[in-house]
Amino acid sequence: MSKRLSHPFPVELSIVIPLLNEAESLPELTRWINRVLVEHGLTYEVLLIDDGSTDDSWDVIGELAETNKNLRGIRFNRNYGKSAALNVGFRETVGRVVCTMDADLQDSPEELPELYRMITEGGFDLVSGWKQKRYDPLSKTIPTKLFNGVTRWISGIQLHDFNCGLKSYDQRVVKSIEVYGEMHRYIPVIAKWSGFRKIGEKVVQHQERKYGVTKFGLERFVYGFLDLMSITFVSRFRRRPMHFFGTMGTLSFVLGMLITLWLVGEKVYLAFNNLKARDVTDQPLFFLALVAVVLGAMLFLTGFLAELIQLNGPNRNDYLVRERVN
Ligand code: UDP
Ligand code: MG
Repeated sequence: MSKRLSHPFPVELSIVIPLLNEAESLPELTRWINRVLVEHGLTYEVLLIDDGSTDDSWDVIGELAETNKNLRGIRFNRNYGKSAALNVGFRETVGRVVCTMDADLQDSPEELPELYRMITEGGFDLVSGWKQKRYDPLSKTIPTKLFNGVTRWISGIQLHDFNCGLKSYDQRVVKSIEVYGEMHRYIPVIAKWSGFRKIGEKVVQHQERKYGVTKFGLERFVYGFLDLMSITFVSRFRRRPMHFFGTMGTLSFVLGMLITLWLVGEKVYLAFNNLKARDVTDQPLFFLALVAVVLGAMLFLTGFLAELIQLNGPNRNDYLVRERVN
């Protein structure tokens, strides 16, 4: 780190790499990263987050770290998932720009300098890779298209490939957001909703997996969709849950009351005209009214409970401050 930096960060680029049983890939990957970044004169650190590997990944990391002082390793006690690994990695980074990539050599380190430049010179908060030409089985690429379409539609972010492992971030972004559960698929969405709106995209090279096997099956799409629902809901209504539950509850309750009024009115009308009326319990509408009223009241109660929880929670007043003066 002899070079004088024009910013207060200890290194220019931090690379966070979550990994689960990727021992064979690591030596090649770290050598390749080192070669590219040295060529481009970028100071860097690599954070290898061992997410509970059961092969020799951790030993390999130890050996590599002895010869390359830019490598740092963190080992989880068990497997927590890619999001957890990224989250811990993000907390630890010190670079001006933070990149993430997969450990399996499917992502190419050659992309790193340009991803770095797009943040520092291009002015983006976040740049996401786009595996325009993918080397994955069809069973994965087709559902992925659907997944990306739905996410684009719900989030309004025009990215082609939300789940690309290769991304770069301004340091402020990774220190402001939290990635949990399986939310690594939606980091651009979380970032946008935290106010980081300059989101870019870069076409990146993609390779077939060279060693090891994929760690995600088809359940990723079901969970992924549920997660999208959660973050959409949470980001809009976390601070005001009653607005959501209250609206739904009111609609349902009013609908139930209207149907009830109709049923009562009909009965009274028929009685006055000496016509024979059906029993209310004989009419499907009655049950609809019953369900709607009860559901409405329940939604209301849920809203009040959610407000109470939110009011007493520790995060009720955490806001992201972008800048200050004086
Ligand atoms: N990974 C991880 N923890 C997990 C699952 C995966 O750290 O629980 C890592 C994995 O080692 C790889 C990256 O996340 O570096 C992407 O996983 P994978 O290549 O299996 O996903 P795919 O490319 O098939 O989408
Ligand atoms: Mg992969």
